[in-house]
Amino acid sequence: MPRRFILGLSLVLALGGAAPAAAQTPPGAPAPPLFATTKITDTVYLFRYGGHQAIFVVTPAGVIATDPIGYLRPQAVTTYLDEIRKITPAPVKYVVYSHHHYDHIAGGKPFKDQGAVFIAHRNARLHLEQLKNPDVVMPDEVVDSSRVLELGGVKLELHYVGRNHSDNSLVMLLPSDKLLVTVDFIPIQTVQFRDMPDGFLPDWFDSLDRVLALDWDRMIPGHPYAGGRLGTKDDVRELKQYMTELSDTVRAAANQGKCFDAAMKEIKLPKYEKWGNYDQYLPGNIERFCEYWGRGY
Ligand SMILES: [Zn+2]
Repeated sequence: MPRRFILGLSLVLALGGAAPAAAQTPPGAPAPPLFATTKITDTVYLFRYGGHQAIFVVTPAGVIATDPIGYLRPQAVTTYLDEIRKITPAPVKYVVYSHHHYDHIAGGKPFKDQGAVFIAHRNARLHLEQLKNPDVVMPDEVVDSSRVLELGGVKLELHYVGRNHSDNSLVMLLPSDKLLVTVDFIPIQTVQFRDMPDGFLPDWFDSLDRVLALDWDRMIPGHPYAGGRLGTKDDVRELKQYMTELSDTVRAAANQGKCFDAAMKEIKLPKYEKWGNYDQYLPGNIERFCEYWGRGY
């Protein structure tokens, strides 16, 4: 594994992200950079701060940014804006929320102060209106099934692909670059987060099929999984395979009365033991499928 990947992974660990837990920074190794901006296409930039990622799309008429990733760290947002400013003087016109979880969307006020219009799925706004977190900017506009944002000659499609890791995930597709952004529901070569909190079964599987049906060949995730590389359709198929094998295995265990504790202790899926967070979160993933197959919810 290249050294920079090991460093990247350990940074994510240090910051509590959902990326692979297998690697550690070698003793005495220099600290990895706190943030980085990477040009992906002529118009698209990937911004990483700690263990979270967002993109911004630069057009002559302004910028479309995604998740502010500023939860409990306003410096991430000011850095995000500084990084955009290094590339273009154009204003940020839109901020698109991937879903309503705070670790991705809190801290957006500096974008709002510049006049950006905030967009999210309708269910995200419903949750946020109930939660009233003072550090979360309320969406100005909502999306139901899909919407195309057009700015400065660039099209960004927003698609709702059903319930998965939340009931309000929007995926973002740049058709000209066949580039897709998904956040949290498609970890790359990494097991799902903890007990898949706020997640929906069996809808999640349908959601993966809907993502596969879209026309793209590279996927940017909301965390730097698998050394920070972009994802492919094979990664989505592999994740679906993992979740299917987990589901089948837990279903059999549930039918033998092993849910929850015995199943969580006994079930192993060695085929995936090299995946990120396998040791840490496999029991939580099993717990979620135990609820589904052993309790019916
Ligand atoms: Zn989330």
